[in-house]
Amino acid sequence: MTDPSYFRYLPPVHEVASAVEEEGGGPETPKRMQIIRKALEEIRTTIADGSFQPADRQEAMQKTMERYQQLVDMPDRGLQRVINAAGTVLHTNLGRAPLSEKAASKVYETAIGYSSLEFDLGSGERGSRLAYLNERAASFCGTEAAMVVNNNAAAVYMVLKALSKHKETVVSRGELVEIGGSFRVSTIMEESGAILREVGTTNKTRYSDYASAVHEETAMVMKVHTSNFAVVGFTETTDTGELQKLKEAYPHLIIYDDLGSGSLYPFQHDGIGDEPVVRESAARADIISFSGDKLLGGPQAGIIAGKKVLIDQLKQHPLARVLRLDKMSIAALESAFDEHENETYPPAVSMITSPQSALMDLAQQRRRDDFQTLTLEPASGVSKVGGGTMPLVELPTGLLRLEKAGWSEASCAAFLRSCSPPLVVRLQDSACWLDMRTISEEEWGFVNKHLEKLDNA
Ligand SMILES: *Cc1c(COP(=O)(O)O)cnc(C)c1O
Repeated sequence: MTDPSYFRYLPPVHEVASAVEEEGGGPETPKRMQIIRKALEEIRTTIADGSFQPADRQEAMQKTMERYQQLVDMPDRGLQRVINAAGTVLHTNLGRAPLSEKAASKVYETAIGYSSLEFDLGSGERGSRLAYLNERAASFCGTEAAMVVNNNAAAVYMVLKALSKHKETVVSRGELVEIGGSFRVSTIMEESGAILREVGTTNKTRYSDYASAVHEETAMVMKVHTSNFAVVGFTETTDTGELQKLKEAYPHLIIYDDLGSGSLYPFQHDGIGDEPVVRESAARADIISFSGDKLLGGPQAGIIAGKKVLIDQLKQHPLARVLRLDKMSIAALESAFDEHENETYPPAVSMITSPQSALMDLAQQRRRDDFQTLTLEPASGVSKVGGGTMPLVELPTGLLRLEKAGWSEASCAAFLRSCSPPLVVRLQDSACWLDMRTISEEEWGFVNKHLEKLDNA
């Protein structure tokens, strides 16, 4: 047991605040008080667990001041811009799809002023931007209707809750996946109140498996894109087009396809993966949903598209208000749609389709041999799409291999992460690698400065 008397040496908050002020910290600020409280709380914990036993008030004060200073010197833990040199285009930890400058400036304008969010500029009366965006989403998906929500997880939840609550939804055991550690199809179903009816096996689910599970009371058959998981070898799945046959006996059955990344751009025409475009998937199902910030290349959003009777039920559901998209995301999604329409494409799409020859040329242009302690050599390799999308696809790319004499690759990577803006590299084969695919021309200026700093460190 810790001697409780040690706690009486802990200085009160106002004493620490005065000490900081006396040491030239200037007048008190709320942020400083918050850091002081945090420092004191941590010192209290070290006393409680017995690792710190101050001899007197002075020692406790000194320790608190040291900890305070460490907390002040810590890098900003808030959201920061980062340069992605790891080459994974839809890097979930780094915020998935980056927006174009044009899309970002539309977000900016929407954010700093008022907007026509719920105002019709023609009539001067109440109108809805969201209604317009929903119409555009439907036209991209080739469906009767569509609805955008906060993200695809919200879309899945809403579809199940509104259309299958207390009723059975049939899903293949091979598709009960977990995506990104926080999205489990089975958990979302449970939360929604839909009753999960598993069919088939991990590697094979046939039409007959679905057919024998469906009955009068079944609300839905759901297909889930396996995303970051692939079953290879001895496999069999049943596509939504085939599942439509179930409706001959059960006309009210809903065929729902959670596409996950859902692409508007035909990547397979460029020889990249075998993802069908959203239009093709939507034509086979009654309702589909997909993310806004995966292969679409827009902001975090979820797009639900399909038959009007179903979408209307969703629009009238109380959850529609809970899960609605905010005005900045509406601006960004509109821009991403514009870019697909004009065939200029959002940055994520351009990055994924960048040919290796261009990236190798970039690596040659950006190589340098004027360093004292660094080597920076071009090499070829592969990048990943990321975001749980096309896990087996390898995109041939151009890289720069970075090494610093006497430093481990982990130390170099940590140094570059501590620069401003932080640079995140790929670690592989005892070196750091910079992938040309995800670093823009404008960012390369920062990278050069960071490398010079590392050279001199
Ligand atoms: C990514 C993904 C989701 C979740 O989408 P978010 O937009 O990240 O919420 C749901 N289902 C599948 C199949 C996915 O791949």
